[in-house]
Amino acid sequence: MEYISTRGQIAPVSFKEAVMMGLADDGGLLLPNPMPSVDAATIDAWRELDYQALCLEIMTIFANDLPGPVLNDLISRAYETFDTREVTPLVFNGQQYILELFHGPTFAFKDVALQFLGNLFSWLLEEKGETMNILGATSGDTGSAAIYGVKGKDNINIFILHPRGRVSPVQALQMTTVPDLNVFNIAVEGTFDDCQAIVKEIFNDLEFKAEYRLGSINSINWARVQAQIVYYVYAALKLQRDAGAQQVNFSVPTGNFGDIFAGYVAKQLIRPVIGRLILATNENNILTRFVLEGKYAKSRVVSTISPSMDIQVASNFERYLYYLYDRDPVRVSSTMKDFQKKGEIVFSREERQQVRRDFASVSINQDQTLETIRECYKNTGYVLDPHSAVGVAAADKLASTLDGPVVCLATAHPAKFPDAVRKATGREPERPEAMKGLENLPSRCRILPADIELIKDYVKQNAL
Ligand SMILES: *Cc1c(COP(=O)(O)O)cnc(C)c1O
Repeated sequence: MEYISTRGQIAPVSFKEAVMMGLADDGGLLLPNPMPSVDAATIDAWRELDYQALCLEIMTIFANDLPGPVLNDLISRAYETFDTREVTPLVFNGQQYILELFHGPTFAFKDVALQFLGNLFSWLLEEKGETMNILGATSGDTGSAAIYGVKGKDNINIFILHPRGRVSPVQALQMTTVPDLNVFNIAVEGTFDDCQAIVKEIFNDLEFKAEYRLGSINSINWARVQAQIVYYVYAALKLQRDAGAQQVNFSVPTGNFGDIFAGYVAKQLIRPVIGRLILATNENNILTRFVLEGKYAKSRVVSTISPSMDIQVASNFERYLYYLYDRDPVRVSSTMKDFQKKGEIVFSREERQQVRRDFASVSINQDQTLETIRECYKNTGYVLDPHSAVGVAAADKLASTLDGPVVCLATAHPAKFPDAVRKATGREPERPEAMKGLENLPSRCRILPADIELIKDYVKQNAL
């Protein structure tokens, strides 16, 4: 398998090179070429596999320059940190099928990808005899998942910036109580946007980036998408096997378009098993307006009770754009440059029709989200977190327009967002064992002003 850029200005690279590159050197995003698809006999065989065996089959297609035993070992090390062998259990709560993606060490779906990516980075570095300093910004979930993905690895140090006092207390503690000495938390006196701008600026200093071998864990890394393809295939085939479903649809609470793009790749891979993908958004609904109105237009970010979806410009959108534009990298490049200037992309009638064949979409406001948590709890006893509730509410609205069952992705454990859950149900969500007592653990964190030079100095002093 080779990887190409959506902007077409780099020579094709291997999987290993794609992982180390992150963002393509021409500013585009990397994609597998060709987009793979398996035959009916393979799908039949896959239906019998457990999660990890299926994961190995799928990843062998995409990461075919990794030796089989290595890939197998990376997969088992990534998923042995989950609290269930099923990794992503599919449950029926009496009303909906829920795919629980929060059984990893930090209780959000980011673990599925970042546990794998952490082990993969470490292995690739060891092979080359190199080290890396990961630098990233987080509004909450990504930071802890990335830290848990690489903690204790001796060829990686990780620096995570979070906005001081602006992530939930549980999220902050999940990051700052990790005792491993390769983990460096920086609480920035500023907003998430300040953190992100600082990280971006540091990466733009190419000399600094090269000298300190900076690595990135954000959601544009192909390996993250790849790890997320697996649970779509797993859930769809399981529903076919156990419930006799012909076609299976998914409802995906969406922010950066990374998760739902993995669903799009899964759909091509096991054609025709996956039907439609429901793109569920909160009040930050740029992607819903794209699906319904054929216009991708930036507006202001509003803060909601599902903060991991409070995003306007979706970093993975360009990957879908490449296919929507019939794999024309010249057109993708000029459109993205235009978007930088104008903040808007308008689509033709044919393109709008194609988009609506691929996705259904609806935006769910905060009252509807709370109402969904309340109703679901009342009717079934099942507690949803506010992100998962956006997906369930969207599925409730759109299920009657689709053929076959809808699987709702549950992207976080409710105990990560106790305020919203308490408000909706009147009860405190129960904390899993590993989340208890975080308050009593020693915590380490450096508080710094939103000053790029001071943050660079701190990285310099502590880099590998
Ligand atoms: C990151 C995240 C999302 C959004 O996923 P994208 O890949 O950015 O679309 C949804 N829910 C939770 C809990 C998350 O952490």
